[in-house]
Amino acid sequence: MEIAKGVYSMGNWKGGRVRAFLLDDGHELTLVDTLFETDARLILDQIKQIGRRLEDLKRIVLTHCHRSHLGGLLTLKRMTGVPIFAHEWEADLVAGNRRPQTPPFRIIRPFRTLPLLAGLALGLDKHPGCPVDNYLQDGEQVGPLVVVRTPGHTPGHLSFFWPERKLMIAGDIVSTWPRLEPGWKGFMLNLPQHRDSVRRMCGFRPEVLAVGHGDPAMGVHEDSLGQLVEAADKWVRKAPQPQSQPVTARTIGSQPRKRQTAHTD
Ligand SMILES: [Zn+2]
Ligand SMILES: [Zn+2]
Repeated sequence: MEIAKGVYSMGNWKGGRVRAFLLDDGHELTLVDTLFETDARLILDQIKQIGRRLEDLKRIVLTHCHRSHLGGLLTLKRMTGVPIFAHEWEADLVAGNRRPQTPPFRIIRPFRTLPLLAGLALGLDKHPGCPVDNYLQDGEQVGPLVVVRTPGHTPGHLSFFWPERKLMIAGDIVSTWPRLEPGWKGFMLNLPQHRDSVRRMCGFRPEVLAVGHGDPAMGVHEDSLGQLVEAADKWVRKAPQPQSQPVTARTIGSQPRKRQTAHTD
């Protein structure tokens, strides 16, 4: 499905209606996330459908390391050899060298996401590990996209803005399945961080909001963006103290460590 000029949304019912995005800027292809299926079939089909070749794919960019979003990564890396980009704090998870920090299992809405939350808590979310080649920082340009750092769901979560398309690939800080809301509350590691990320992301005034789970929101108005921020803020205000699962020191208040010393714990 083409959701903006040169922006294709891919995915099916798997992984909680997970979505990945293929971007054609007229010269090169950029892929954001790689879906659930380890054979990358949906992505390969989409490239063919738009009359492009696998050699046109120049980079794979990751929002964060959760199984649904990474299934086809290793297959695509082996087939294309293109560089993989992610935030440094997700890199060792993507490589499979460390298990992700998981939120506690709670009976929490939306109930249709509970099987996924249970899978995460039970460690059933392993993906084929693949090294990250380049670390992305806030404000950096990657292909046609501007990197927007949006921690809270995970420490190294990234969103991506394509200014010419007024498109925000929000990742898991917004979801439209099973309903439009600032992501799935039970999956947030740090609610105040997440609220700040939603507010910051909405500050870009996207008109197309491509999300990690569910179909994109099109023709987005400022009112809708305001409601997302308000909903995320409400989660923080209603949360018991402490407001979220304690996070490790590395996830807040400090700069990412250098690559050679990163992710040894
Ligand atoms: Zn996620
Ligand atoms: Zn997700």
